[in-house]
Amino acid sequence: MSSRYLFFSLCVVFCTSVVFAQKTFTEKFSKMGSSFEVIVVAKNKEVADGFIAMAKNYNRIENLISSWDSNSETSKINQNAGVKPVKVSKELWDLIERSQKLSQLTSGAFDISYAAVDKIWTFDGGDSELPAEAVLKRSVAKIGYKKIRLNQKDQTVFLSQAGMKIGFGAIGKGYAADRAKETLVAAGASGGIINASGDMNTWGTQADGSDWNVAIVNPLNSKKVFSWFSIEQQAVVTSGDYERFTTIAGERYSHIIDPRTGMPAKGILSCTIFAPKAELADALATATFVMGTTAGIFLINQLPKVEAIIIDAMGRIHTSKNIKIEDD
Ligand code: ADP
Ligand code: MG
Repeated sequence: MSSRYLFFSLCVVFCTSVVFAQKTFTEKFSKMGSSFEVIVVAKNKEVADGFIAMAKNYNRIENLISSWDSNSETSKINQNAGVKPVKVSKELWDLIERSQKLSQLTSGAFDISYAAVDKIWTFDGGDSELPAEAVLKRSVAKIGYKKIRLNQKDQTVFLSQAGMKIGFGAIGKGYAADRAKETLVAAGASGGIINASGDMNTWGTQADGSDWNVAIVNPLNSKKVFSWFSIEQQAVVTSGDYERFTTIAGERYSHIIDPRTGMPAKGILSCTIFAPKAELADALATATFVMGTTAGIFLINQLPKVEAIIIDAMGRIHTSKNIKIEDD
């Protein structure tokens, strides 16, 4: 069970029904270094197993976006930073183009080129002191989504400055959840949830015909559910500072980087986003974390079908305009 579940778990509650002769089947597994869960409605175990096998096929996506596999398309782009454009698959090219648009939408708070600071922050317990000002400055100079040059005709990607790097940590799981859902919908699964380490996308209904329910638990008191949400065809994603962090001189630093400074973002404990797609929700959760409560809620309130719940560092809850928190 990941720490996300312990501190800010999005509990999925489902039930089975004999009325529709459908049942709910669940399988948990590990992929892309994360824990995944597939919940699917099917008429029997054989059919469900077929759906689950399709959902497990993440290898293709890993080959595109992995930063640690030196043969992935993403690694090829990074290896050629400042050297030459790299031809990539349409799938990755499109993902990078959408990422750039998300950077524009969030005034650069979400930026896949944040990864130029990957070398100075490890967030694996190895960070013992804050990086020197000069080191931060040098790395931040290499960040900038506008410096990612996309050529549609040749389907190439060029990181125009030596030392630049891109990484999909803030959007990859959401994207993978969307693709798995698409595959299962196309295969005829009437309802389900893809849960990529807490990044969830749902469709259809539970076996008894009712909507899926997600409970948002207060991260400061994991026993207390502060609201239930009925979700239909929607994604729910949370970014939190408890997932990966480092402690330096007694202070906690989150793994979400402010691309303007190269420093971990401060001020928010967790940010949950509801959106039509997990990819969008994932990117916006990270962006809101960087932007802070006021600017984050302001942005979310302008986006159709997108809502947010933010818990700030003081434990206060902030919501976008259509979210009503009911006490449990
Ligand atoms: P989680 O891993 O908890 O789901 P996020 O979706 O917010 O959290 O992703 C955080 C990861 O995204 C970091 O570990 C890092 O790989 C990457 N990242 C950090 N800061 C940014 C940023 N400003 N823009 C884009 N990606 C980022
Ligand atoms: Mg994210």
